[in-house]
Amino acid sequence: MVTRRPTGWHAAKVTALHPETASARRIELEVPTWPGNDPGAHLDIRLTAPDGYQASRSYSIASSGEGTRVVLAVDEVPNGEVSPFLVEDLLVDDMLEVHGPLGSYFIWSPDSEERPVQLIAGGSGVVPLFAMAEAHALAGDASGFRMLYSVRTPADRFFASDLEGFAAHGSLQLDYVYTRQTPAGWAVPPGRITREVLEAAAWPAEVRPIVYVCGPTPFVETVAGWLTELGHDPRAVLTERFGGG
Ligand SMILES: Cc1cc2nc3c(=O)[nH]c(=O)nc-3n(C[C@H](O)[C@H](O)[C@H](O)COP(=O)(O)OP(=O)(O)OC[C@H]3O[C@@H](n4cnc5c(N)ncnc54)[C@H](O)[C@@H]3O)c2cc1C
Repeated sequence: MVTRRPTGWHAAKVTALHPETASARRIELEVPTWPGNDPGAHLDIRLTAPDGYQASRSYSIASSGEGTRVVLAVDEVPNGEVSPFLVEDLLVDDMLEVHGPLGSYFIWSPDSEERPVQLIAGGSGVVPLFAMAEAHALAGDASGFRMLYSVRTPADRFFASDLEGFAAHGSLQLDYVYTRQTPAGWAVPPGRITREVLEAAAWPAEVRPIVYVCGPTPFVETVAGWLTELGHDPRAVLTERFGGG
């Protein structure tokens, strides 16, 4: 069951910053007025320049639940307006304006219908799916959870140790597709996800999974199209597009 939570503007204080990958940063915020958020939700960050110019971008929330600690993970888009500031210039104790929590559609919660769940991530699109996998692990939920994570190289994986911990404890079946460089001894050469890889690594349509697909827009559209071709009910394929072309 998705909890109804008021959406509004909040003042957020940056409490911690950690490198997530060579191009991405994990950002921890303390938001005293935050109403909590469900796994998969996002928020908008609004930056205001000294001359009053404003820019807003959406970021998925890697944390979930009732607390006031909000965790984001932002990948730097070269020459972007907002992400280079968040990854390179933001400092601990800085204040940010955030609007949220947002999104009532791309949400999984431990009280959801007990159905297998397939998570499919491209790059930073893993952020909301990580929140779902973590909530599932913490709740000891019985639904079968699988994640297929397409990423450039092993060093580009977000939340690698946490995800591997969930896999080691049996709450997540985790498969990777490496598009540029594989770990040593990997059975297949690097390459983009294909329909065949998707078919082999994802729950089949016959078990009626709920599928969450998130990442760059072309990745999401390609994967969602293949899922439909493979017989998945389009109403059970939920998508979140991060942009890019
Ligand atoms: C619901 C939602 C949740 C999101 N969650 C996250 C998240 O958790 N982590 C995260 O890192 N990003 C996330 N994004 C993407 C984020 O909102 C920004 O689009 C991204 O940070 C780029 O913003 P920018 O201002 O730096 O670049 P812009 O100045 O907006 O764009 C610069 C150039 O990069 C291209 N571009 C824009 N976005 C992307 C992209 N995502 N990939 C590749 N090229 C792009 C643009 O077409 C443009 O040519 C999310 C987007 C949405 C809609």
